[in-house]
Amino acid sequence: MSARDPIADLRRIAFLLERANEATYRVRAFRSAATALAALPAAELAQRARTGKLTELSGVGDVTARCVAESLAGEEPVYLRRLLATEGTDLDAAATALRTALKGDCHTHSDWSDGGSPIEEMALAAVELGHEYLVLTDHSPRLKVARGLTADRLRRQLDHVAAVNEALPEGFRILTGIEVDILADGSLDQEEELLARLDVVVGSVHSGLNDERAKMTRRMLTAIANPHLDILGHCTGRMVSSRPAGVKGPGDRAHRPRTRAESDFDADAVFAACAERGVAVEINSRPERQDPPKRLIRRALEAGCDFAINTDAHAPGQLDWQRFGCERAALCGVPAERVINTWDADRLVARTRSAR
Ligand SMILES: [Zn+2]
Ligand SMILES: [Zn+2]
Repeated sequence: MSARDPIADLRRIAFLLERANEATYRVRAFRSAATALAALPAAELAQRARTGKLTELSGVGDVTARCVAESLAGEEPVYLRRLLATEGTDLDAAATALRTALKGDCHTHSDWSDGGSPIEEMALAAVELGHEYLVLTDHSPRLKVARGLTADRLRRQLDHVAAVNEALPEGFRILTGIEVDILADGSLDQEEELLARLDVVVGSVHSGLNDERAKMTRRMLTAIANPHLDILGHCTGRMVSSRPAGVKGPGDRAHRPRTRAESDFDADAVFAACAERGVAVEINSRPERQDPPKRLIRRALEAGCDFAINTDAHAPGQLDWQRFGCERAALCGVPAERVINTWDADRLVARTRSAR
């Protein structure tokens, strides 16, 4: 295969990142690398790529060096290929189409844990939005700050949901679920028998978010291997902005940091495991989370994962936040078929229950 022009590929990537409204530092990394490499004679560029010495140049990092090596080998760089997946599409239209395709929400809270409203009100708001189902995923026992449900309270909630479902309009139902804490050793914070009874299990890391990389990766892989886990919730735990005014929830307390860096884990290993085990990667729509970041959504897509575009709503009005997640999914070229809450409730539950 004949070589491509690596400088042109780097510039193209920078352009596409800008178009996708990615962080400026990321765009700049590709532009600086292009400038640094354009100053080299072609023979030296090829020689450095062959011997792995591109990163000795200032402005050239591992990611940009890998793109150059792929270009010189005549391959379209993987990074570029991911970005091109959305080129030429009307992103607003794609986001709207995704939102329209959603039939439910797989991550919501009621006042049984740290939400602000009763289950009935959450359900009625979901009916108004045109949903066919709402998965109720209140917190698990160890998250005391969020009034996580003990096994007994969860049992009572299941009876209550069954009664509420009787009274709801035909064609709509509340599916049972939990947002279960992924504990330090990767186990899930609820009784096995209960997890088996629930329609949908979302697992999230809420503590030890600064675990070092190998430990966090192990912890997440252990949770993903658990046959009860259906959806990996807000996988990096990052907080990009302060909580919107008046929004109740964990993290609300004054001493909590306003922003939080992403947890460090081996994303390729985690997403490969999700794809293999049929665990969907959540695209969390909360404005202060926007989790995972777009570069990780693209990697999960490439790894073959399915997704769930969830609101993590703690109040009825927040159930309309799915559009934020849809916008980010559209920017990454996530097709509707790969989003499990575009499926109807029967298909969704058939999938979540088959794994158990
Ligand atoms: Zn959570
Ligand atoms: Zn939540």
